[in-house]
Amino acid sequence: MGGFVSLVGAGPGNPELLTILAKRRLSEADVVVYDRLVNPALMAPLAAEKIDVGKLPQHHKVSQYQINDLLVEQARKGKRVVRLKSGDPYVFGRGGEEGQYLQQQRVAFEVVPGITSAIAGLGAAGIPITHRDFASSFHVITGHHKADGTQLDWENIAHQEGTLVFLMGMGELGHIAEQLIKNGRASSTPVAVIQWATHWNQRSVKADLGTIETVVETHHIGSPALIVVGNVVSLMDELNPELPLQGLHLLIPFKDPSKLFSKLQDQGAAVNFFKRRTQVPLTFDLPDMLKGGTGSAPVKETVK
Ligand code: SAH
Repeated sequence: MGGFVSLVGAGPGNPELLTILAKRRLSEADVVVYDRLVNPALMAPLAAEKIDVGKLPQHHKVSQYQINDLLVEQARKGKRVVRLKSGDPYVFGRGGEEGQYLQQQRVAFEVVPGITSAIAGLGAAGIPITHRDFASSFHVITGHHKADGTQLDWENIAHQEGTLVFLMGMGELGHIAEQLIKNGRASSTPVAVIQWATHWNQRSVKADLGTIETVVETHHIGSPALIVVGNVVSLMDELNPELPLQGLHLLIPFKDPSKLFSKLQDQGAAVNFFKRRTQVPLTFDLPDMLKGGTGSAPVKETVK
């Protein structure tokens, strides 16, 4: 029997921001091939084999060709493969390319949508992506140049009325701000940068086009982050969700389902699991330390 590949969106980070179908596909999977931005908390309950193909910026751990081949190879072994991607698989995740390759190779696949950081990441910092008073459209743009040197149409982008959201743009933040100003945007246009949105270490700063690069440097904010340009940013202070355990990252013993997990998450903490040690019989003899000296009779021990 042929296998099957599900291109699954893991959502922006918080492990509970997963669709019901995504959760089921993960629980049914034989293999999960996952990216760097996927929260490890999602992985803890899974029985499947887990393969990390995460890529750091500038450092491709596993090439896209290798990922494509891995998916095909696993599916041809008859396995149910989940290709787990951050956010939505078809928003800048190269999910489209993976789908095309699977199609060419005649491997059956589906897409399970996810909540994209491009929308939910803003909300997590108190920014609604549209608002009747401020923006009636939004534009999600890659800040990462293609290897062929293709440039963005800055004049067009700068003249959009709606909210601009740049993904993969931190390496180009200065250039983005400069191009927007050069093409007619006021340097006082509000800008926010949100790093690790919905993860325990979420941080955000607010400034304007003229000052954002300096503010980001001062606060040591880096990738992965969303760059948001537009007047909706002014709502950030008013709408920023404040919960008592916000900003705390807690580790608790793995249990599924876990009441403790739900209670802590509801108070704003970000919770990850650690697996309790399981009892494993030793396959070798330990010396009897109590008797001291050498030559004492070895005892069989079990590690607790
Ligand atoms: N498919 C993903 C985007 C993948 S591109 C989605 O729909 O969200 C990777 C870029 O997404 C990062 O460089 C960063 O700009 C953004 N990103 C993804 N998750 C993020 C998060 N939790 N916080 C901030 N930015 C994030």
